[in-house]
Amino acid sequence: MVIKLSEEGDKNLIRELVELGGEDLLKCYQCGTCIADCPTGISESPLNVKKLIHICKLGLREVLLEDESPWMCVTCGGCEERCPRGAEPFEIILAIRRWQCKEDETYVPLVLGEIYERGHTQNVAG
Ligand code: SF4
Repeated sequence: MVIKLSEEGDKNLIRELVELGGEDLLKCYQCGTCIADCPTGISESPLNVKKLIHICKLGLREVLLEDESPWMCVTCGGCEERCPRGAEPFEIILAIRRWQCKEDETYVPLVLGEIYERGHTQNVAG
């Protein structure tokens, strides 16, 4: 996993995400179990919750704001069942979505265009 560090971390980011529903964010110990069978893995824009949580812990606001992958979640809930730490990755995804909309009130994820065109977010080949 490569995360470009072009900004200094902001310790307030975790607190903001916790207030928006990501209470168990700090339980994550980066095992990657949550992404092992994520249905977005076969799409052009896979969702990597583990990486998103890492970005949150590093306090990288700009990186998090620019990442549209939380909007690729199809709400299957598989990550919640698999997480050995009870970190509730799906709730963290929702908290990140809320945070992005709050951080930038004009925020409209590009993925909404895909939903409009195809009716879903996953551009699965075949
Ligand atoms: Fe592992 Fe849970 Fe963290 Fe995913 S959210 S990396 S399953 S501890």
